[in-house]
Amino acid sequence: MTNFGLIDRYREFLPVTAATPSVSLGEGSTPLVRSQNIGDSLGCKDLYFKLEGCNPTGSFKDRGMVMAIAKALEAGKKRIICASTGNTSAAAAAYGARYQLETLVLVPAGEIALGKLAQAMAYGARILAVNGSFDDALTAVRSIVEIMDIELVNSVNPYRIEGQKTGAFEIVDELGEAPDMLCIPVGNAGNITAYWKGFNEYQSLGRSETTPKMMGFQAAGAAPIVLGKPVLKPETIATAIRIGNPASWEKAEAARDESEGMIDIVDDNEIIDAYLRLAREEGIFCEPASSASVAGLIKLPELGVDLTGKTIVCILTGNGLKDPGTAEKRALIELEYVEPDIDSVMNLLNSGK
Ligand SMILES: *Cc1c(COP(=O)(O)O)cnc(C)c1O
Repeated sequence: MTNFGLIDRYREFLPVTAATPSVSLGEGSTPLVRSQNIGDSLGCKDLYFKLEGCNPTGSFKDRGMVMAIAKALEAGKKRIICASTGNTSAAAAAYGARYQLETLVLVPAGEIALGKLAQAMAYGARILAVNGSFDDALTAVRSIVEIMDIELVNSVNPYRIEGQKTGAFEIVDELGEAPDMLCIPVGNAGNITAYWKGFNEYQSLGRSETTPKMMGFQAAGAAPIVLGKPVLKPETIATAIRIGNPASWEKAEAARDESEGMIDIVDDNEIIDAYLRLAREEGIFCEPASSASVAGLIKLPELGVDLTGKTIVCILTGNGLKDPGTAEKRALIELEYVEPDIDSVMNLLNSGK
């Protein structure tokens, strides 16, 4: 089958009509990989990682973008715009290029991981680096769409949430039931909102008996929901969740409260520890923001949450190659230089380290 994407797979649960064009880059249906080591060390029954970095542009943003683009095309739009910490811009630029929409992206200057910026540029998007934060960029974008005929494709666009909720469907379809807990990084809070919507819809359709506790994690320097007030200058190594005033703030709180879950904080050291554990104990290379979900999970026993016998899914939102700079700086592995002959190599290996 060619071009089988999530709109085809979940058409009956999405706001599509006969007039909605069939848009896809092959997004969705990402691997749900069982933990090999971390889960046992925490005493959970089953721990799974959903590898959203396997989407076509390397993050879950493709799930929402495919829906937003399909509806923009249906409405006859010719241009799209978004503010982005990086991955939204890559997704918008890719689908925009494929469907010949003019794509305009506003990013916070100097705060975007190199892989993401390079990617959006390669797809040919017009990129404006604004002198401010992501939140400033989103505010600007929201004013621009008031006066220009251009489709907003940030997660305040309801079709983004519709597309992203399919991540929850896939988990239930694969496990046969909802997990006990879902651990997820929280930035602008669209994704936690989308997953909660997806789990609830599936439950009301009788596809699952239960819904999971939603366990959201913000970075310590960018934790407005936990602090209960916007953060003016959000700061964290996890650039994808460096957001001080989340657009879906109230919906994230609703997901937390209705599911009897929590939204908590993980600091940059915990994020990097989890990032390296995922790489070194599971063979999974995700970006720092993604590992906030696992950093949070690792902290749960300290917070008094019992993990024994639980089935838990961590959403690994983006691919590690998006942010090669962090890997290079934080991996704490040094290149060893050697002459290209057997004696030199053997001498070096035998000299220990
Ligand atoms: C966008 C993004 C997030 C944050 O998702 P929100 O919906 O903004 O909460 C987390 N991780 C990665 C890799 C992202 O691209």
